[in-house]
Amino acid sequence: MELNKLTIQEAAEGLRKKKFSSVEITRACLDRIKKCNSEINAFITVCEESALREAQRADALIAAGKATPLTGVPFAVKDAICTRGVRSTAAARILDNYIPAFDATVVGRIRAQGGVLLGKNNCDAFGHGASNENSMYGPVHNPHDLERVSGGSSGGSAAAVADSMCVYAIGEDTGGSIRQPASFCGIVGLRPSYGRNSRYGIMPMASSLDTVGPMTKTVHDAALLMETMAGRDPLDATTVADPVPAYTKELKKSAKKIIIGIPKEYFELDGIDPEVKKITEDKIKQLEKAGCKVKEVSLPYTKYATAVYYILVPSEDSSNLGRLDGVRYGVRAPADNLFDLYAQSREQGFPEEVKRRILIGTYALSAGYYDAYYKKAQQVRTLIKKDFDKIFEQVDALITPATPTPAFKIGEKSQDPLAMYLADVTAIPASLSGLPAFSVPAGKTKTGLPVGVQIIGGRMNESMVMKVGEKILQL
Ligand code: GLN
Repeated sequence: MELNKLTIQEAAEGLRKKKFSSVEITRACLDRIKKCNSEINAFITVCEESALREAQRADALIAAGKATPLTGVPFAVKDAICTRGVRSTAAARILDNYIPAFDATVVGRIRAQGGVLLGKNNCDAFGHGASNENSMYGPVHNPHDLERVSGGSSGGSAAAVADSMCVYAIGEDTGGSIRQPASFCGIVGLRPSYGRNSRYGIMPMASSLDTVGPMTKTVHDAALLMETMAGRDPLDATTVADPVPAYTKELKKSAKKIIIGIPKEYFELDGIDPEVKKITEDKIKQLEKAGCKVKEVSLPYTKYATAVYYILVPSEDSSNLGRLDGVRYGVRAPADNLFDLYAQSREQGFPEEVKRRILIGTYALSAGYYDAYYKKAQQVRTLIKKDFDKIFEQVDALITPATPTPAFKIGEKSQDPLAMYLADVTAIPASLSGLPAFSVPAGKTKTGLPVGVQIIGGRMNESMVMKVGEKILQL
């Protein structure tokens, strides 16, 4: 048995029944990382020694009968998420030497249950990108075709799960960064509702859109992780106090007749790949045959979502990234005066895309342009959200392609920021509206590249998107 290939559910059962130890699964993952990371580049940091120590501790907990389903199961975390005692660079040189003194709340909750941290996943720097080519530690290669991107920004996490270098990973999604790489690499990725999971310790990109969620091999594993990750956190005032649903139980409950909405705008996008469209439409037909009610709906403001996103996100970015100036922490460039110190630290520490966002955001927020850009974008954001509110009075979930195309070639879009931004078109509307959205594998192209479908749910209704996701996987 290849232990690194197990799901959380299988690993937990094997550990409980003493078929193998946590040290053995951890070693299996570390061996896989050693074998494949040099070509895939999914990890920036691997913490072999501490992982094996944590695995030993987990084995002791299991022997003492104190295990939960996450105890002793090895996982990886996107490098833009803080991990106590483990270097967290966000894939930018400005944080090359940063070792957080604390865990992000979601990571702390998993570690408190005896989860074994294997290391930190490569990503686009501070989450900026859709291909993982904006990492200052090199691009991630898609395990299904090494010449192609893994998606972004949580591309290292998706590749690590797809290649079984870890049992599961924790990613971050502002405008698709969990769902798009999940789709490109053929795994399951959940963006929870805004406010469901604490953002404390997630390096902020756009605080009003950032979320953190599970990237797994199965829907059940995503549900299981959400039970630990989710819920109110006094350290993040935007987390909601609602009780956390028993997601795994909800998954098993047979659903009443589910009404699925098909937003026509997502199928009429310029540049949508015919194979992606066909795979998505086939799944919808099969769902209908399996008893779901399917109806076409319209979200007319969707067409403005990408433009709105690329004003609001850089605006929040320009403010959030201001803290990284070479003075307080992170890498400091040598300089003769204060101005050069800021300028050189930021010049050397950020990749081009991050600088581009800071410049766009600073411009959009500046006096004279604020009303024309930032304020206008916020107004349209409200309209986009209202579109969804209206639709969720009539349907339980929406189904769309997860991405307009399958994984593209490394280098294909990296010189054309606008083409790269358009890769987010299917992911962004749910992000702007704070809704849960889920990407599950739906098939493969003729050349063998994975294709995902996206399920968008009403606010705080992760249970529904996971239920529909599970149905799709069973078709
Ligand atoms: N591609 C999106 C962007 O570059 C995704 C960001 C994210 O979700 N972190 O903004």
